[in-house]
Amino acid sequence: TMLSTEKVYNHAELQRWIERVNKAAAQLGIPINSLIFRATPKLDGFAAYDDGEHLYTRGDGKRGTDITRVMERGLIVANNGKRGLGAGEIVVSASYFQQHLADKFENSRNFQASVVKEKELGSATAKAIEAKAVVFFPFSLLPSWQGSSVQLIEHLDEIITQQYNSVDYDVDGVVIEIINDELKTYMGATRHHHRWQVALKENLATAKVKVVQVHPQTSRSGRVNPVVEIEPVRLSGALIKRVTAHHYGMVKEKGIGPGAIIELTRSGEVIPKIIQVISAVDPELPPCCPSCGAKLIWDNDYLFCTNNTQCPAQISHTIEHFFRTLGNIDGFGPATIDKLYANEIRSIVKIYTMDSEDFEQVGFGPKQSLNLVNQLQRSRVEQIEDWRFLAAFGIFRMGGGNCENLLRHYPLDEITTRSDNPPSTTSSSPIAGKLLVFTGTMKRGKRSDMQAQAKKLGAKIGSTISAKTDYLITGENVGATKINAAQEKGVQIVSESEYLAMLTTPAPQPEQPPQPSLAF
Ligand SMILES: [Zn+2]
Repeated sequence: TMLSTEKVYNHAELQRWIERVNKAAAQLGIPINSLIFRATPKLDGFAAYDDGEHLYTRGDGKRGTDITRVMERGLIVANNGKRGLGAGEIVVSASYFQQHLADKFENSRNFQASVVKEKELGSATAKAIEAKAVVFFPFSLLPSWQGSSVQLIEHLDEIITQQYNSVDYDVDGVVIEIINDELKTYMGATRHHHRWQVALKENLATAKVKVVQVHPQTSRSGRVNPVVEIEPVRLSGALIKRVTAHHYGMVKEKGIGPGAIIELTRSGEVIPKIIQVISAVDPELPPCCPSCGAKLIWDNDYLFCTNNTQCPAQISHTIEHFFRTLGNIDGFGPATIDKLYANEIRSIVKIYTMDSEDFEQVGFGPKQSLNLVNQLQRSRVEQIEDWRFLAAFGIFRMGGGNCENLLRHYPLDEITTRSDNPPSTTSSSPIAGKLLVFTGTMKRGKRSDMQAQAKKLGAKIGSTISAKTDYLITGENVGATKINAAQEKGVQIVSESEYLAMLTTPAPQPEQPPQPSLAF
């Protein structure tokens, strides 16, 4: 029961499966006209297994992680069913989702994840559980159609429609199986799926829908993308509320705006596309950047916000892209980045200098703050592919593939130091990210020049000693107050010559933050 289900996409493929079943039945001497087929809706939920005492995740053909906590949080079995009914799905009522959750979760899958997660439940999720809008639905309790293979083929379209409409949950296919245990055992399974069961998926679905609004969204590159909000429609089992137009050139040319009628298609589990505009209206074009208010400019079919260094959307999406691309760091999703942004923490460099106190100061809880710091630390020491690291900076035209190509010709170290402005990128310096205080008269040059150089190497400059100071760099004629303060706070005191020697020593690589100053 923990294998995945083989998918078939049309009548011919289903027919071939039925022939295999019939052949196996004949080999066992079971009369074909006595075989019973069953059709049930294929729930698009979070797969789980209930052994009566514990609830487990499923996947990879094994019993997965214990998620009994979900039951302790008040999740019930569908149809007042009892515990211990084996395999099923955690699902949320589609109508409840649309009414209460659609503005909080991108899709029901994200919501399901919020039900299962280890962390404390959000209030919307807790409410949905309390309202019994989310349930564990054992497969054995699903409504079903039963009949012979002849009836199945003859009434296939009606049977499919009936199954899709039999539950108020997201359905992404119809499971068809035989119920004869002897035959099931005989047919057995491949490494991936049972041979006695298939899922019939609708390969292609189209719908004509009305446009509610066109929302501009500024990406990290400054390109403003049109997201077309539509009156919700079910396509291939999924509820669709938004669809992306290619660019504003298309919106303008085809006349997409409130009230327009468009035709959509969705193939399998792929994101929906606009096929054509059936009834055009005055296009809805944004006069300015939805994030920063800057005037937009056209570049061929695309609208751009050129306020690259100030636009909140561009900055926060760039930071999001960085952490998402690293791929080994949790907790730095849009909500975290937005919160940091609101508190004027707007660069990757700055984030990497934060300790848990800093996170708490901008409103994160103690536990989350500690977790964020641990995640940052993990990303400093955990090895990742060079291309991934390079792609994380989101440099124009430098996606994963181009990064791999470039790295075939130049090692990473060489790429990161190749620049028109070498000092700003040599953040492999041991003082990168460190807080320095200079004091006394320097021999090498003006103190302000040395401070400027240190900044270029990624250091922060302070004027007074605090517990956060990393180094006190001492020239000649230093007052005792500064030295005492440094000793008291455990700040390392280095002479000017020691400091200069330090600058020529590369930092040990594993402890190096991912050279964040490249990003901005
Ligand atoms: Zn902008």
